[in-house]
Amino acid sequence: MDGVGEPLVSRMQGFGTTIFAEMSALAASTGSINLGQGFPDTDGPPAMLDAAVAAIRSGGNQYPPGPGVPELRAAVAAQRLERYGLEYDPAAEVFVTVGATEGVAASVLALAGPGDEVIVFEPYYDSYAATIALAGAERRAVTLRPSGGRFTFDPDELRAAVGPRTRLILVNSPHNPAGTVFTRAELEAIAAVCREHDLVAVTDEVYEYLTFDGAEHIPLATLDGMRERTVSVSSAGKTFSVTGWKTGWVTAPAAHIRAVQTVKQFVTYAVSAPYQRAAAYALRNELAWVEDLRASLEGKRDRLITGLEAAGFETFRPQGTYFVQADIRPLGFTDGMELARALPGKAGVVAVPTQVFYDDAEAGAHFVRFAFCKKDDVIDEAVERLRHLG
Ligand SMILES: *Cc1c(COP(=O)(O)O)cnc(C)c1O
Repeated sequence: MDGVGEPLVSRMQGFGTTIFAEMSALAASTGSINLGQGFPDTDGPPAMLDAAVAAIRSGGNQYPPGPGVPELRAAVAAQRLERYGLEYDPAAEVFVTVGATEGVAASVLALAGPGDEVIVFEPYYDSYAATIALAGAERRAVTLRPSGGRFTFDPDELRAAVGPRTRLILVNSPHNPAGTVFTRAELEAIAAVCREHDLVAVTDEVYEYLTFDGAEHIPLATLDGMRERTVSVSSAGKTFSVTGWKTGWVTAPAAHIRAVQTVKQFVTYAVSAPYQRAAAYALRNELAWVEDLRASLEGKRDRLITGLEAAGFETFRPQGTYFVQADIRPLGFTDGMELARALPGKAGVVAVPTQVFYDDAEAGAHFVRFAFCKKDDVIDEAVERLRHLG
């Protein structure tokens, strides 16, 4: 690189490698059990996999329409209506993206720019920070803190984070990594701020089906005055255990969809056609399979928590998602980054240090995140290895 200089544009410097890449590489090089990155180690519904193969075999292999194939847009509209009572016109208000990641990215890039501020709840999903930077906007984090065994925010802190330049608020519920499913009261507090300051909300609902103990996922768009100002994002990846398919969707008022499409069309133009057709099939036919997945994940959550508590961690019982937040202080550790880097050598297990998802590093210093979307014997072996840590 002598004489060439740093080729990376300055606003993306500091986003070198994601923590998942670093920790997954560490898992591979040490032969550790990877409870870092959140992907399931079992496949999605067989008939959905067959539908993708059939779509390929029947010649659906050329560019699909940029906004998505009609059957997936219709299936998404039907899902939002049946499950949440939200009506979207599949032709103008539903838009298919390369996973939820592109859905969120295209939304942020379309709706915020230099001089704008975007509110996120921290710990935040790592792509949010990078995408806000890419948009040239500024991030304002509102911290989720433990209270009564779950992570929540102080509505006053949320109100204080809003200023004259605030344009957007990113809302992830069920929340990765905190495991919080926002209650109606919490969502009302967010909605009130959005209405009062004329903000647009971008919601990341990829875990919409994966909630536990009866916790109900309530889309922000269902609250008074919010449908018109909410861009909702979801995806097939988590719902149907096909994280490698990268097939997601956005539902929003037509004007917001046009804005999102304006960005997305020049990034990827369209989304792999066979996976769209298979996702459409799954949304219409595989929700019983998803309920079995949900129930099985609830059991895996309990299995991992029991093991982590026995190993000496303090855990927070998530109401949704794939993840448990664990406090490392009862074991005598204070720095989650240090522990996460040492854990493969000490115990042969990989976790993710949650502090990388905070601006207030202090608030997240002592948490690590473990994934439980793994086979039972993998979870059992991991907690067995962790038993001798303290
Ligand atoms: C996994 C995950 C995503 C990524 O979804 P894709 O559809 O694979 O892009 C987005 N948001 C959150 C909170 C996630 O956990």
